[in-house]
Amino acid sequence: QPHGRVFNFSAGPAILPVDVLERAQADLVNWQGTGMSIMEMSHRGKEFESVIQKAEADLRALLNIPSNYKVLFLQGGASTQFSMIPLNLAKAGETVDYVVTGAWSKKAAEEAKKYCNVNIAAKGDNKSLPPVSGWKLTPDSRYVHYCDNETIGGVEFKSTPDVGDRVLVSDMSSNFISKPLDVSKYGLIYAGAQKNVGPAGVTIVIIREDLIGHCRPEAPTMLDYKIHVENDSMYNTPPCWSIYICGLVFEKLLKLGGLEAMQKLNEEKAAVLYDAIASSNGFYSSPVDPAVRSLMNVPFTIPSQPDLEKVFVKEAEKAGMLQLKGHRSVGGMRASIYNAMPIEGVQQLATFMKEFAAKHAN
Ligand code: PLP
Repeated sequence: QPHGRVFNFSAGPAILPVDVLERAQADLVNWQGTGMSIMEMSHRGKEFESVIQKAEADLRALLNIPSNYKVLFLQGGASTQFSMIPLNLAKAGETVDYVVTGAWSKKAAEEAKKYCNVNIAAKGDNKSLPPVSGWKLTPDSRYVHYCDNETIGGVEFKSTPDVGDRVLVSDMSSNFISKPLDVSKYGLIYAGAQKNVGPAGVTIVIIREDLIGHCRPEAPTMLDYKIHVENDSMYNTPPCWSIYICGLVFEKLLKLGGLEAMQKLNEEKAAVLYDAIASSNGFYSSPVDPAVRSLMNVPFTIPSQPDLEKVFVKEAEKAGMLQLKGHRSVGGMRASIYNAMPIEGVQQLATFMKEFAAKHAN
């Protein structure tokens, strides 16, 4: 691969497109003839203003974001949203609904319990998703929170859950901009950038206007959406470099044909791996119900010889395919194949899987 790069299947921080890295490399020292790195510029200057405005405009174009939604570039990771959401969208003692389908939505629910009354409306088993018709939603809950793609378990919602006129809140950290989305069905969408978008350090929040301005007065200023909206994400020094790289990625995706094109490519890539698992005569196994398996994170095991999983990870590494070890809580392997993973990466992995199985199958 160019620059001696390997295929990196990390769940995050994850790979960026190589042409984006090359452009960033040039801009790192002298951005567009200004004599300054983009990292060295004042966030109040016209240069950075143009960078953040273009990043927002391109994201709006990609997702077709309606005009009654604000886009924010925040810090603190998706984890900070776990507390920011209840602090802004519900008062103490009010009820909020959480659907727990894996490790991340569980964490979000645990955090919300500090601030309001949390109803666990449904629970998943890390292999399938509880059907929306069975969710036990509270009639007057302030919002319904769910995670669109559980990065660790590899379960992904294939369509927007219909929760009537309730406020729907979604953690899309690991599948944001991997496919088209009808933003108007949501009250709030959030995503840490470090998987499908850009480098760690920036979290994107898309919030409907009527949900802004209701933060609890005792909450820290930095956790009030209104403050960030009023200051165009520049209440304090923003993560300039991360926002700039996100902007390059948005621009690239628009040029590639937008999110329909990304979805097609992501489906093709995931199919290569799921087919490799299915055609292995049971050597590999995917724990996830095929109806909800993730296009982004593909966990798999070697059920008859679990001791081989370590060998698999080691040998794959020698062959230039890194970070395939499953999350410590589930074991096995996991291939994260976000937008920037080229199809050649998954093809190489599928070939490796076939050869490894042929060598080790009893
Ligand atoms: N939500 C999901 C679905 C994630 O995958 C992650 C991180 O991997 C998080 C939340 C936490 O994100 P952060 O590390 O940006 O706080």
